[in-house]
Amino acid sequence: MSQSGSFKKLEKEKGKTAYCQTCNTLMFCNEVPASGNYPAKLQWQNKNGTAHYLYDYKTGKVSCNAEPDTASKLPELGTVTEPEIVFQKKVAEALRKYHLIEDVVKKDLGTDANPQHVGLVIKLIFDQISQ
Ligand SMILES: [Zn+2]
Repeated sequence: MSQSGSFKKLEKEKGKTAYCQTCNTLMFCNEVPASGNYPAKLQWQNKNGTAHYLYDYKTGKVSCNAEPDTASKLPELGTVTEPEIVFQKKVAEALRKYHLIEDVVKKDLGTDANPQHVGLVIKLIFDQISQ
């Protein structure tokens, strides 16, 4: 099994937490008990204990299994293609960044600031950090 693509391998250590380098989700390194022919192993998991990285045996690619609160906003699997899911995840991530910026900008400019001005400042900062 080859680790292809842009996935950098994070060093696994039981009880360790790390942010996924692809989707910035906070992950927890937990031990998965042995089952069948598979020995016990360490695995990066989401907050709810599901595996964060999904390995597709057909394509040999690893993908992110995002938190359910993000995933629940996505349409049911099967109705969307994989590139669409990737795109939706990117949109969700961009939206998350946007709201973070919005919070900071609104605090900085005050509640009575011109909404158009606020929007412009948000866009400026968003463009800068997205480069
Ligand atoms: Zn991820």
